Amino acid sequence: MPELPEAEVAARQLRERVVGAQVSDCWVGREDIVREGLSSLEWFRRATITGVERRGKSVIITFIRAEEIKFLAAELGMTGLLLFRNTLTKHPQHTHFILRLEGGVESEIRYWNPRRFGRLSLLDQAGLDRYTSRRFGPDPLVISQKHFVQLLSSTRSRLKSLLMHQQAIAGIGNIYANEMLFRARLHPDQIANQVKQKAAERLHEIMGDVLREAINLGGSSVRDYFAPDGTEGQYKRRHLVYAKSGEPCPNDCGTMIKRSIGERSSFYCPRCQRLRGPRLGYNRKVRARYPDVSREYKLINCLQ
Ligand SMILES: [Zn+2]
Repeated sequence: MPELPEAEVAARQLRERVVGAQVSDCWVGREDIVREGLSSLEWFRRATITGVERRGKSVIITFIRAEEIKFLAAELGMTGLLLFRNTLTKHPQHTHFILRLEGGVESEIRYWNPRRFGRLSLLDQAGLDRYTSRRFGPDPLVISQKHFVQLLSSTRSRLKSLLMHQQAIAGIGNIYANEMLFRARLHPDQIANQVKQKAAERLHEIMGDVLREAINLGGSSVRDYFAPDGTEGQYKRRHLVYAKSGEPCPNDCGTMIKRSIGERSSFYCPRCQRLRGPRLGYNRKVRARYPDVSREYKLINCLQ
């Protein structure tokens, strides 16, 4: 959190309100928040914003000054927000970077990030190309069904880990991965290349639907997330399983939503999202082929 929908909402608001504005000043509160290009800061004074885009969970702002183009890549990480000047936060001391603007609807863009997992990078075109090719796989809203099915069939990791792996497919985090897998009736620990083609095609469709619906509702306001203008995202009301462990399954199957602790919590219905695949507990050969499989997976298979 923030994930793709929240970053997209932020990018759209910025595009509407700051494209065309000129930077009059910039301020860096903590130098360690800038990953790359701190020395370019002077360059930004008098630069004009010409565009705002999203890549994965990052927002990329494009600037031009005297025909030279540069980019500011803002990673939102776990707790990062891009905010306009009049949007109040509970802890203003976590604002680490400010761009002051003239000639746009908004007079400031602020980067607020209490846990500082995200960073800012100031890049030229070659730097941006390097930055994006290293970090981001295809976008889940752009990837074709065929490409997505291929991605699953060629990967031996668990499905949820794959969906959250930014170099495999960029922008999905824990909330939306759980929500998609529940709707697609696929277990988070299912080995990706064991998913049948029809199910993979369905997951592709559901992935797009969930993300588009979340964008239309302004994202999910979980913890401290809100949009640059302070609006809360309403998709949280549509969450079916995320953070709902112990509540009845929304499919009325009579089972409670379960939470399993892995690298990130998975929320799923053990009845609607059955784990399918080889019985890993018994077959050494198969176990060697799927080395990242969890103990839980083996246990469930032994019990079936
Ligand atoms: Zn269920």
